[in-house]
Amino acid sequence: MKARIVALPGDGIGPEVTTAAEQVLDKVCNLFNHDIKIDERLMGGVSIDKNGIALTEETLADCLDADAVLLGAVGGPKWDDPSAKVRPEQGLLTLRKEMGLFANLRPVSTHPKLEDSSPLKNERLKGVDILVVRELTGGIYFGEPSCRSVDQNGNMYAVDSMIYLDYEVKRIVQLACSLAKGRQGKVTSVDKANVLESSRLWRQIATEVAHDHPNISFNHLLVDAAAMHLITKPSDFDVLVTSNLFGDILTDEASVLTGSMGNLPSASVGKSGPGLYEPIHGSAPDISGKGIANPIGMILSAALLLRYSLKLEQEAKCIEAAVNLALHDGCRTIDLQHQNTLSTKQMTKAIIDRMGNNIT
Ligand code: NAD
Repeated sequence: MKARIVALPGDGIGPEVTTAAEQVLDKVCNLFNHDIKIDERLMGGVSIDKNGIALTEETLADCLDADAVLLGAVGGPKWDDPSAKVRPEQGLLTLRKEMGLFANLRPVSTHPKLEDSSPLKNERLKGVDILVVRELTGGIYFGEPSCRSVDQNGNMYAVDSMIYLDYEVKRIVQLACSLAKGRQGKVTSVDKANVLESSRLWRQIATEVAHDHPNISFNHLLVDAAAMHLITKPSDFDVLVTSNLFGDILTDEASVLTGSMGNLPSASVGKSGPGLYEPIHGSAPDISGKGIANPIGMILSAALLLRYSLKLEQEAKCIEAAVNLALHDGCRTIDLQHQNTLSTKQMTKAIIDRMGNNIT
């Protein structure tokens, strides 16, 4: 297979973990005889420094023209001025919107050998295998008005708007239902319908979609209860579908189950066109440049890229099996254990060395 990927390493640890994923994809090409070309481009703070904006028209066009996009992370203290007109995350939000990536898929599963890396009791972590389907291009991150002003009494105020259109809810819940068919067939839709009007619309549309999928066991949960259940009985969840804001928060919470947010990948997909693949973590400025970042979330994002954008299931499984084997063999970065840890490069090599052992 011939494919072209645009890699946007970004800021902080982004470039460190992107290199790891590129090496893993190289190994996939060698093992399975594929020709996957990777073109690196600037996005985020590094692009602001060079071009004055977080995402240039050329880079956006390159991404739209690629088979898939691999992203490290963007942001950092250098660009953190809240009053700045250009900010690194603008590049990411524009990219998601322009690529039509309405769904962010975040698989969260626990590895038996990592149970001690999680603050939760071991028995709660058994059998956790959740797919969070987060709506990505609507809701409060994009709603207008979003502004600040001063009222007639001189009080400053700020407004953000949580807006959902019926078709935005319909397509994301439909996707969740179709993904659940290849899993345990359970969907939990998370909202705040007791308080928010946008959530009441969400629940109404989700209920209608559920009626079209009689073989799916469908239920609704308020976001506060969902936050609690994720910690008290996480193995009860199969597919969890929710809005942009709630999904952002709940997936960071869910990452704790796996021992570190450095372990978690994500895939952002639309109706058609290239998908965007990135770890759920940020640019981690506190460890950037030290060579100690956990590359697993990024490497597993490359596996999702192979699965969803290039339809290379065996190749995706080869990467996932190698990651599981490395963890089984005790390979750990510093976020997972305090002593005898591996650097980013060593962990990447440990994974690459274990690829190919499982090809049939
Ligand atoms: P973060 O995810 O960067 O870091 C949170 C904590 O987790 C830090 O202690 C960090 O060291 C640790 N961590 C994260 N990834 C790790 C990895 N792979 N290996 C080991 N440890 C890891 O979140 P933050 O500190 O809130 O944000 C830092 C910057 O990243 C901010 O500028 C924020 O805006 C940006 N950010 C970007 C994205 C993105 O690019 N998609 C997402 C979240 C945050």
